[in-house]
Amino acid sequence: MANPVLEAEPDANAQNSEESDPDDWSREINGMTVEFLDGGVVDEESPNFGCTNSGVFREKVVCWYNKPIRTAWLHWGGKGEETAKAVSGCFGTGIYKVMGKEVKCDSPALIDNAWLVRIFGFPSCASKQQILQDIPRVLRPKRMSLDELSYTSNLPSNNGDIELLLEYRAGDVMFFEPVTHPAFADDDRYGVIADFNTAEDAMRALQLNGSTLEFYPEGTLTVEPVYAAWIKVPSRAWNAAAWDADSQGDYRELLRQVSITEYPLASEGCRLVVIEGLAREKVVAAKKTLEAILHGEVVEENDTAIWIPFSEDNGRLSQSVRELQGIVVIRDARMCQLRLVGDLSQRMEAKTRLIKIANESKRLSSHNCDQTPQGADCVICLTEAEDPVQTSCGHIYCRGCLQDLCTHSARNEEKGIQCRGPRDNDATCNFAFPLVELSRHLPAPKLEAILETAFDAYVSRHPLQMRFCPTPDCGHVYQVSADRPKDGQSAPTHPCARCLVSVCTWCHIPAHTGATCDEQQDMMTGGYRALARAKMELDIRDCPRCRTLIEKNGGCNPYPVRKREHGSIGLDQFFYPELA
Ligand SMILES: [Zn+2]
Ligand SMILES: [Zn+2]
Ligand SMILES: [Zn+2]
Ligand SMILES: [Zn+2]
Ligand SMILES: [Zn+2]
Repeated sequence: MANPVLEAEPDANAQNSEESDPDDWSREINGMTVEFLDGGVVDEESPNFGCTNSGVFREKVVCWYNKPIRTAWLHWGGKGEETAKAVSGCFGTGIYKVMGKEVKCDSPALIDNAWLVRIFGFPSCASKQQILQDIPRVLRPKRMSLDELSYTSNLPSNNGDIELLLEYRAGDVMFFEPVTHPAFADDDRYGVIADFNTAEDAMRALQLNGSTLEFYPEGTLTVEPVYAAWIKVPSRAWNAAAWDADSQGDYRELLRQVSITEYPLASEGCRLVVIEGLAREKVVAAKKTLEAILHGEVVEENDTAIWIPFSEDNGRLSQSVRELQGIVVIRDARMCQLRLVGDLSQRMEAKTRLIKIANESKRLSSHNCDQTPQGADCVICLTEAEDPVQTSCGHIYCRGCLQDLCTHSARNEEKGIQCRGPRDNDATCNFAFPLVELSRHLPAPKLEAILETAFDAYVSRHPLQMRFCPTPDCGHVYQVSADRPKDGQSAPTHPCARCLVSVCTWCHIPAHTGATCDEQQDMMTGGYRALARAKMELDIRDCPRCRTLIEKNGGCNPYPVRKREHGSIGLDQFFYPELA
């Protein structure tokens, strides 16, 4: 997430100057082949999971239709009620199965003086012997009959029909393949995934939900969106995460809920990780889990994050972790944090070493602090500075006063955090503190809170350009549509990369279907235009005298009556509840 108020630390984008060992090697961990550079690596580019490095795909849908089913009828005689009940109970509760699978079962019914039990939902290839197998011999029915299949399935031809329907009614289908991933599998239905060129085509495909199928007249087609979120991850962090046994456990757990596919982007040293699933919540949760794994563990001493700025490092950081295998140290300049991803025992070792370096550089910088003139006045409170801080422009602050200035400026100032110290001729210093300087003077959690405030304030000051996602607790920011949508059209929707909800960029609510933005706005504010359209469509006019709604052919009662009695369809109560 770009920080709009404070200047970025100059080191934030500095490349890792250290020479990589040319001998890459790989190792198998948990059945995965993992390539890793020899030795621990310091990653200077903080993986940023904000707007620019994650997003959503909205071009895929999955089409479902029921597998053909067979029905079996179990016949007992007129006295077989108890037995029939017992057997249907056992099928219903899953005690009896067919070919190892649970089946569906009706309660016994007395038909033509015989007790009948209907069972269905078993694999259509099951033989009579296989259906009866779990029933003890003494309870078996006198007779069993098998119905025909509910329809003849020919998978390639059926799927071909569906593809044609999509091509004809929605748009060009780029990929069309049967569902295979376990996170998508459905025992009772066939599923095919269709990938379109555009989100609009996919939207049209979703409207085909409920279409009838020529090859299966009693069945219908179900079309659902595939929720797909992507994140871009530095390959080093991704590889290191494979060394962390705990994370691998979490990762395998995720694979039961969603499908995760990774594509190497060799030129950028990154991987594109795509998370797909049928439930929005599961994809959102999986993305959060993955981000947490790749975010890594913050190195802390006494509950405070330690920080070694690039400028004070002199290569010691890289040196100290060089021979530790399977970890990455992420130097996140924005959060002023060092984070570790990778093997647990190596992480513990790295932590000890990093804390030692941080304490050494703290000793050095506290040595610098001694040079802060004691007894000087703070430029804010104009009394002798308490816990004095000297800024790089030469002004003296109490540490507390500087902190207050930052919080205040973050909330109220467009131009960032500027020095309030005096200059000659009654001028103010106005030096804009770079982030790296503030990180030296303020504790990291304070700075983090200040950055957050600055960001929130910036967004609220620019409501015509950006807004927060309307999903509660989402916190994601999107760009507002620049132009009022044309008559009869809706503004583009923004697919929120964090909560995967599509937001209308003009109305600032979850995307509305069936109404244009104008109509949506009207409904939210009073409903005049929507009312006008509804009246046109339903042929309803206003009564010329009292201006309430009447149907054109209904006439108007000339006597004073309650408005509702005009034969209106109640639209007035819907749009003007105060009249009801
Ligand atoms: Zn002060
Ligand atoms: Zn100054
Ligand atoms: Zn959101
Ligand atoms: Zn809208
Ligand atoms: Zn009237």
